[in-house]
Amino acid sequence: MMYITKRMIEIRNLLQKVGQSSTVTLPSIVVIGSQSSGKSSVLEAIVGHEFLPKGSNMITRRPIELTLVNDPEARADYGEFPDLGLTRVTDFSLIQKTLTELNQSVPESLCVTDDPIRLTIHSPKIPDLSLIDLPGYIQVAGENQPRELKRKISELCDKYIRGPNIILAISAADTDLANSTALQASRRVDPRGERTIGVITKMDLVEPEKGAAILNDRQYPLRLGYVGVISKLPPQTGLFRREASNLLAGINRNEKSFFNSYPAQFGPESGVSTGTITLRKKLLQVLEQQMSSRLQETTDAIQRELEETTYQFKVQYNEQPMSAEAYLAASLDDFKHQFHEFTSSFGRAQLNSLLKDALDQKVLDQLAARYWNRPIEDLLVAPPEPDNIADLPKADPDSPYWHRQLDTATSALTRLGVGRLAATVAASAVQSNIDKLLDKSSFAKHPSARKVISEAASTVLADRSYATSDGIEISLKPYKFDPDIQPDEWAQGREHVVGVLEGELKQCQAAMKSLEASVGGKKKLKEVMSFVDKARKGEIIVEGDHPSGAGGFSAALLARGREAVFLRDRADIINLRILAAKSRQCRRPENKYYCPEVFLDAVASKLARNAVLFLQVEMLHDFYVRFPREVEAKLREHMSAAGGGGLERFAREDPKVRRHLDLIQRKELLELVLAKIEDLHRFGAGAGAGAGVG
Ligand code: GDP
Repeated sequence: MMYITKRMIEIRNLLQKVGQSSTVTLPSIVVIGSQSSGKSSVLEAIVGHEFLPKGSNMITRRPIELTLVNDPEARADYGEFPDLGLTRVTDFSLIQKTLTELNQSVPESLCVTDDPIRLTIHSPKIPDLSLIDLPGYIQVAGENQPRELKRKISELCDKYIRGPNIILAISAADTDLANSTALQASRRVDPRGERTIGVITKMDLVEPEKGAAILNDRQYPLRLGYVGVISKLPPQTGLFRREASNLLAGINRNEKSFFNSYPAQFGPESGVSTGTITLRKKLLQVLEQQMSSRLQETTDAIQRELEETTYQFKVQYNEQPMSAEAYLAASLDDFKHQFHEFTSSFGRAQLNSLLKDALDQKVLDQLAARYWNRPIEDLLVAPPEPDNIADLPKADPDSPYWHRQLDTATSALTRLGVGRLAATVAASAVQSNIDKLLDKSSFAKHPSARKVISEAASTVLADRSYATSDGIEISLKPYKFDPDIQPDEWAQGREHVVGVLEGELKQCQAAMKSLEASVGGKKKLKEVMSFVDKARKGEIIVEGDHPSGAGGFSAALLARGREAVFLRDRADIINLRILAAKSRQCRRPENKYYCPEVFLDAVASKLARNAVLFLQVEMLHDFYVRFPREVEAKLREHMSAAGGGGLERFAREDPKVRRHLDLIQRKELLELVLAKIEDLHRFGAGAGAGAGVG
């Protein structure tokens, strides 16, 4: 039983997973020959199936790394393309089609590439072999073929025919051996003929004497010898038709009937080797020998690589273990910890201030709409009575006009949908905090996982949103009609609204400053503003918005001027409002009709306080409990989706983790390979070379 080759092929497959292993190379049999020398036919005879690309214009453009696996368990022969994920292809015409497509995928301009196609064939009838089919040498480049094709094919073959590979040099009997490109190439790299097997095809096309003379060639003696074959079935006759399902049996029968007809030339006494079966046995033995002679060297190389990897593991990672699972668990733990810190820092007070800010804006809108929406001149200059705002503090406490104004504003505020506003403000604040946490977490390096977590947050938040906003609306019902404001609430409202207005004022002033800077100073802006004022009052006639401007000012400058006038007027109104809110009348809640600013602020605060109680219980607490669970579940689901492997892919998105995982995987594989190869030393070497399959 051939043992070493089988194990070494397994080992090679493992080593391929380690990645390009520079120091460990295991021998293969490389098949070279000129075009039409019968190279494909020989390979197909060995495998027992037609599977190689055919066609008059078919040039092999990529090496085919063919691994034959003797698999006594296989019920039918099948092929696998490990790089394509194609497994158990029992239809060899499909294998042929796939090879043809892979071959054609190489652009013609590239001529050939050294990127191999890997194909494994399993069968109970084949020996364990590792063969590499290379593009056939061409003599003269065809009309439509690029000039450098010939050179490139030759360079590609040179790469592969280096030791320790065994060369299978194919030449046809009907061409002069001295001109065999395959033998010329092999002689260059193996001048003493130590690792070349000569295959002479088309033995049926020459006289037996000539055929025998070729096999006895002494000009380029090969230690492993020449084998003569006929790898083509004769045209289908009754005799061979029955064998069509088994190519090798047919070929063997045909070869036997031919060679046996010439015992003097090819018989046992003649000393020449003939037949595909003989060739197959020879390949097996030669490869087994080559593998076993490389055993020690390979072991040493793997040992060295393992030592180097172990050393790297120590210095780079201090032997820290790592797995995709552990990385995910650590990332999740870390994120949950950060989330926990956030939950303890984000509660009622934070919600309240966020909601109050949003409501402040609504209060300002109401005030602007009902009280301050006229030019300042109209506000300050009486009459018309009674809606002169300047007169408001002095107005009749029973004036139905001012009562109506305040009642409408209050009712608009309480009915604006505080429930929905509160739920939205809370949800978006939580969401943006989660997104910030994610940006700082290790999930920032994993966009798709980050998205899953972020979406988990919005799902949980959205889930509670309707119920929460309805609940808030119901809880606020008592405040919708004549909210009762206590003196302390009033005092707070007064202080707060003054702050809000001062804030607005500051914004106006800052905008004014930047306008000044943009026109080239305060003085300049003043000049434009005074022009705009005069124009507005009709003291100057400006006809339309002339593109080239007016009064010596450019159109752009005038636009700035108008903006500045607006800002100035707005600041004047805000000042007026601040004064009003600070005034003596506004110290007491009884004067609410004089002080709409204070009253509405106090109402808004009341609404916010009550809404927040509900928000905290219904939304925040629920979120704090459910979100971490949801994250875990959704992430696991995400990782196992799309056929699994998601966890590994996830971890490998982080280059640091990927390098760490790669090194560990490499180390483990090398350990496994070393264990296997040591087994070979113990048992395999004793098994030695015996009878092969065939
Ligand atoms: P490749 O280009 O080297 O792969 O050559 P092929 O295997 O495609 O063979 C070229 C031609 O030679 C085909 O028509 C084969 O059928 C034919 N051929 C291959 N081997 C033999 C053989 O041993 N005897 C005869 N008569 N024809 C052969």
